[in-house]
Amino acid sequence: MSCACSTGEPCGVPSVKTDKIDQAQKMRKRRQYALFGSVLFLFTLRWFHIFDSVFGIDTALIAIFIGAAPMFSRALDDLLKKKLTTDVLIMIAIIAALAVPAAHLAQAEWLGPDINRLVSSKFFPAGSVIIIMMGIETLEIFTLLKMKNAVDELMALAPKKARVKRGLIEEEVAVEIIRPGDILLVKSGESIPVDGVITKGSGSINESTITGEGIPLEKITGDLVMSGTICELGTFEMRATKVGEDTTLSRVVRLVQDAQLKKPQVEKYADKIARVFIPAVLGFAIVVFLITYDPVKTAAILLVACPCALSMATPAATIAGIGNGARKGIMIKGGNVLEAASDVNCVVFDKTGTLTVGKPSVTDVSTFDDIGVENLLFFAASAEKLSEHAVSTSIVNEAKSRSITIVEPTSFKMFSGKGVLAEVKGSKVLVGNIMLMEDHKIKVSNEVEAEISKRSKEAKTPLIIAVEGKIVGVIAMADVLKENSREGLAKLRKLGIKKIVLLSGDHRDVTEAMGRQLDIEDVRAQMLPEDKVRIVEELKMKYKVAMVGDGINDAPALSAANVSIAMGSGTDVSMGAADIILKTNDIRKVGETIRLSRQTLRTIKGNLMFSMIYNVIGFGLAATGLFIPAYAVIFQEAGCFSVMLNSALLIRFK
Ligand SMILES: [Mg+2]
Repeated sequence: MSCACSTGEPCGVPSVKTDKIDQAQKMRKRRQYALFGSVLFLFTLRWFHIFDSVFGIDTALIAIFIGAAPMFSRALDDLLKKKLTTDVLIMIAIIAALAVPAAHLAQAEWLGPDINRLVSSKFFPAGSVIIIMMGIETLEIFTLLKMKNAVDELMALAPKKARVKRGLIEEEVAVEIIRPGDILLVKSGESIPVDGVITKGSGSINESTITGEGIPLEKITGDLVMSGTICELGTFEMRATKVGEDTTLSRVVRLVQDAQLKKPQVEKYADKIARVFIPAVLGFAIVVFLITYDPVKTAAILLVACPCALSMATPAATIAGIGNGARKGIMIKGGNVLEAASDVNCVVFDKTGTLTVGKPSVTDVSTFDDIGVENLLFFAASAEKLSEHAVSTSIVNEAKSRSITIVEPTSFKMFSGKGVLAEVKGSKVLVGNIMLMEDHKIKVSNEVEAEISKRSKEAKTPLIIAVEGKIVGVIAMADVLKENSREGLAKLRKLGIKKIVLLSGDHRDVTEAMGRQLDIEDVRAQMLPEDKVRIVEELKMKYKVAMVGDGINDAPALSAANVSIAMGSGTDVSMGAADIILKTNDIRKVGETIRLSRQTLRTIKGNLMFSMIYNVIGFGLAATGLFIPAYAVIFQEAGCFSVMLNSALLIRFK
């Protein structure tokens, strides 16, 4: 195969290292399933006395070691970094729980006739902590498994093959070997493989990947085209200018990756508490041991202090919060997301497809003859019936919504960038712009021109309809607000959100008009993906920022925000990049998400407060010797149950 690429230099599709992090995550999922499965299996064997011991070691103890190993390794990792986290707390809990049977054996005379019963359940406390913690972790990982990954989805947009023209020969080659200067051929329905300039022909290009705007642009010789955008209609030749890592699409991939790497970790509220609580408990246990030299009392203190209630405070509440969200069509990717969303005070919105419907709808119909609105729509919609252009679809939908029966045209011709010519019930119908009318020698009156300039000033797209050589009307269309966008924003203001920003890849006048309709003061137009990231980064210095978007062009900004929310109707890429997905596309759900996250944090705080007070009471009882470890276990389980119950209330939160 003849190819200019003989240099051996890196070229072609983004050779982004997808993704070491990603691979590690997949491994983590598999390992978690295997671990949890084997722990449950071993506990079952022990529970039904199928295998009480293996090589003389209690089966329950083996299960505990398998389950505890990853938690311990995380806890030791935190300790090495001099961080006291809830993982450390869980480690102490498990050790204390294991220490109880040992303490029992040391003071066997305490136990009397109950010894058999207690010994048979001696691993119950440690086992229950492990199963609950592993169960929650597995559930979280399972939810993540179903989520898409932004980088993978982005890579899927890049075509693998391209048609290269050398002289008169046209051949299909792998995108990797395309070099700047190569002439490529692009046809209707194809993705543009690399960045370049059109050298021959024209096409109607959908650039929503980069700008977020779904209405295709007409491009002719000399115009720039970008990789990952789609040629919806037309055929053209282009000269490649940027290939491989330099293409627009690769740039977006890099922006997403950079933003993901820079995203700060949320410090869990419980970890803040653990930082103070762990030294206090350990100190107290040491003091009691030094005074009494009693290992049972000491173990009882550690057992009362650590296990269930406190370590469950956060996971139980977040699982309930995530469950509540799922019921409302709000998909939340993990507990950290809820904690981060709870203190959001600035919300940044994308415009098209997020606050607006994202497709043009007919807004005004004017007639210049006695044809009547219904007849005008009949001719226009019938003429457009065979076209798949977004503008045509909106006219057809408008006719349908008014119960106008349309017919199939007997002939149909499309003029790229201008409009259509069709024969409807024997009449020649033209639907398109002034250029189309001029091409067909149709006179455009001052009245029609005035109407067109009026609609254009309103940031609408006007289309002229001519029947049998005479202009009969103008149909204007525009992207309109979703019906609940205003209400959704009002809800956010009521929740005390300090700043609302509108970011759009669209033109200034359209974006500003939309900002006025929604009472948004901070409006920024003509934003490229990297501009959106920059604005979000700037806002993050002053606020906790939530970004709401739907497009591929939003993916980098979504990754950069403190919390990100994607529309369920949006692209797979944006859903992959976001922390939260709104299945119903309802903007009111943004406020609901923030309310839910705040309520979840309140539940977490409530749980923590309860377990602290509960623990202090337990300490007192354990220190005075009123508690033998067996009672400590029961006391601790009761605390755990209360925390679960309090968290379960969150599932019903409205
Ligand atoms: Mg959008």
